[in-house]
Amino acid sequence: MTQPTKSDVLARLKELQAGDVPVTGGRTLAYVYDSGLEEADRVGREAVAAYAGSNGLDPTAFPSLLTMENELVGFAASLLDGPATTVGTVTSGGTESVLLAVQGARDSRPDVEHPRMVLPVTAHAAFHKAAHYFGVEPVMVGVDEEFRARPEAMAAAIDEQTVLVVASAPSYAHGVVDPVTEIAAAAAARGVRCHVDACIGGWVLPYSARLGRPVRPWTFAVEGVTSISVDLHKYAYAPKGTSILLHRTPALRRPQFFASAQWPGYTMLNPTMQSTKSGGPLAGAWAVVNTIGDDGYLALTEKVLDGVDRLVEGIGRIDGLRVVVRPESTLVAFATDDSCDVFTITDAMTRAGWYVQPQLSFEGGRPTIHLSLSAATADHVEEFLEALGAAVRDAAAQGPIAIDPGIVEFVQALDAATLSDDDFDGLLAAVGMAGGDDGSPGAGLPESMAEINALLDLAAPDLREALLSAFLDRLQRPAR
Ligand SMILES: *Cc1c(COP(=O)(O)O)cnc(C)c1O
Repeated sequence: MTQPTKSDVLARLKELQAGDVPVTGGRTLAYVYDSGLEEADRVGREAVAAYAGSNGLDPTAFPSLLTMENELVGFAASLLDGPATTVGTVTSGGTESVLLAVQGARDSRPDVEHPRMVLPVTAHAAFHKAAHYFGVEPVMVGVDEEFRARPEAMAAAIDEQTVLVVASAPSYAHGVVDPVTEIAAAAAARGVRCHVDACIGGWVLPYSARLGRPVRPWTFAVEGVTSISVDLHKYAYAPKGTSILLHRTPALRRPQFFASAQWPGYTMLNPTMQSTKSGGPLAGAWAVVNTIGDDGYLALTEKVLDGVDRLVEGIGRIDGLRVVVRPESTLVAFATDDSCDVFTITDAMTRAGWYVQPQLSFEGGRPTIHLSLSAATADHVEEFLEALGAAVRDAAAQGPIAIDPGIVEFVQALDAATLSDDDFDGLLAAVGMAGGDDGSPGAGLPESMAEINALLDLAAPDLREALLSAFLDRLQRPAR
C-alpha cells in the first residue's frame, strides 16, 4: 500500500464528514449548538488545534491550562450566583460532570452502606449511568402534568440512605425547570446534597432572567443547592468536550479528587475521571467564552428565545401538532395527534435537510420530537416551520405507521434478559437494522428510521436498551 499524501488524508476526511449532520448553519436541532458567529467558531477551532497536544494532567507543567480553567470557572460561578466560596472543575462534558457529582456525594457519606439518590423521572440518563457505575440506587419520583418534579414527593423519598437529591434546570426531554427552591430546601433540611443539572440551560437561563423573562430560581442563590453542572459545549457554544461542575464550597468538592501514590511513577492527582487530558477543549472553550463574552451571550440568548417564541407559535398553528409544555428555555418538545406519527415526520425532516430528534414514548406519554434551538436556528425558524408543515401534511396523508398486530404482540412479549446473540441477529434483521458492511461512510446505517423507531416505541425500556446495544455492537466492528 502506498502512503497517502497529506492532501489525500484531508480529502478523505472531508468526504467522510460530508455524510454527517452539519454542525453549523442552524439546521441541526439536536447534538450541536451553533452561535452562528463565524469569528467565535474560528477562534475556538484555532485554540483547540493550538492546544491539541497539551496535557491537563499536570497544571505545574501546563500553567496556562490552570489559568484558563480558573477563569472559566470564575465566569460560571459569577453567572450562577456562586458565593465567594464557590469552586469548580472543567470536565469533558455533561455526563462527566454528573458522574462526578454523584461519585462525590456517595464518597462524602462513607457511613451509608447502600447509598441512594432521589431523581425526578425526567432527570437525564447520565444519572442512571452514574447509578450503574457507582452503585448508587436511583429512587425515581414522578412529575406533575407539566413534567416538573413534585417537591413534596421528592421530600418524601429522602431517607437515611439518601446521599443526593437532583433537580433539572431545565430537563432535556421537556425543557422545563424543576421547583429547585422547594427541592433544595427539603434536601438541606435532611442534611443531603442537592445537585442542579443545568447542563443544557445553565448558560441560557441567567441571561433569560436578565432579559426580563420569568425564570424560577435555581442557581446558588437558592439555599441548599450544593452543586451545579453546566455544559460549555452546549449553550456557551464552545467546541465539543467541556462542561463545568461547580460546588458551593471546597469541602463539598473534596471527595471528587483522586490521588494515588501507590505505585512507583508520578503521584497521580486527578480532579476528574480523565488523567491525561487534552488541553484542546479547555482552550477552545476559553477562547469562545472570551470572544463572545457576557454581552454576546445576552444578545445570543435574546435571539434564540425570540426564535423559540416564533417556533412555539408556529407549531401551534400546524394541524395535528401540539407543543407538550410551554418551554422555559431553548428546548421544545411536540407531539402529534392520531392523524400521524412523529417518526414519519422525523424522516421527512431529515430528507428536507433538518435534523430533529425523536423521543420514544415514556410512562404512558406519547412519543415526541425534541428540538434544541440554537441562536443560528433563530434566523431560519420560518423556513423550518414551512418544512415541518409539509412533513406533517405528508405524514398525515400516509397515516400513522401500522405495525402488524402479531409483531406488536411478539415485541411486547420479548424478555431482553433471555435473548441470545443469535436472537438479536434475527431481530435486527427483522426490523431492518442488520446493516451492510461495505466500508463506505455510513455503511450499516438504515436508510429510513420511521419503522424502526415505531417498533422500538412498542418495546419496553429494557428491550430498547438491549436492541440498540446489539445494533451498536454490530456497527462497531474494526475495519481492516
Ligand atoms: C446534555 C445533557 C447532559 C449530558 O451531557 P453530555 O455533554 O451529553 O455528556 C446532562 N444533563 C442534561 C440536562 C443535558 O442536557
